Amino acid sequence: MNSLPFAYLIPIFILAIYFILKKKKPVIVPLTDTDKKILNDYVGYYHNLNPTEKLRFEEKVALFFENTKIEGVGVEITTLDELLIASSAVIPIFGFKDWQYKNLSTVLLYPDTFNKDFQFEGGDRNVMGMVGNGYMNGQMVLSQTALRQGFSKNAGKENTAIHEFVHLLDKSDGATDGVPENLMAHEYTLPWIKMMHEEIKKIEYNQSDINPYAITNEAEFFAVVSEYFFEKPELLKDRHPGLYEQLSQIFSQNLAKT
Ligand SMILES: [Zn+2]
Repeated sequence: MNSLPFAYLIPIFILAIYFILKKKKPVIVPLTDTDKKILNDYVGYYHNLNPTEKLRFEEKVALFFENTKIEGVGVEITTLDELLIASSAVIPIFGFKDWQYKNLSTVLLYPDTFNKDFQFEGGDRNVMGMVGNGYMNGQMVLSQTALRQGFSKNAGKENTAIHEFVHLLDKSDGATDGVPENLMAHEYTLPWIKMMHEEIKKIEYNQSDINPYAITNEAEFFAVVSEYFFEKPELLKDRHPGLYEQLSQIFSQNLAKT
């Protein structure tokens, strides 16, 4: 049997398969000059970057918009809100080359605090942000008031939206447990757990300036000290050098100027 007459079909066949399998690259809409001005005016982290880093930040923000839906629930979403949400997503991952949040499809913005059943009217509203589990998996809920407060000049060591994105990073290895195994070499996990427990004790004994919410559990500890790391890196380095060093390793960022 001679199969040679059909041999010329092979490259055509391979090419056809290639084009079928090749995914269409999404078109990423670049940020406008107005967007960049808003980032510069409202996001201190972006403001402090050099021009090359700013460009990289803008690209990551644009990519985030491409991959994530942002929806308002009882609230009108402004460009500022969208940019603050995207910045909160980009800041914790800015040290990584190609990180994308795979466990997030939608961010829901509520006008103010809500309760654990995502009701924002009525009593028992004290939640400012939340990463969804179960039927809410892939969703994050944020309070608009808390989002904006986190980026205001008097935010101190707190930033709710960054806190929630750090939970997502923590969750990316399958467990929200304060140990982001995807981001740290195995030999660092035990020293990190030990350090968390020591710091939690200090907070319990009132010997720490870390927000006491951190003693809720290891996951909250990690998210709370990460807010501190991104909002007040110099202060954290000064008061908790060991903690600063560990977080600097985890996030691959050395933010303290002094
Ligand atoms: Zn939390």
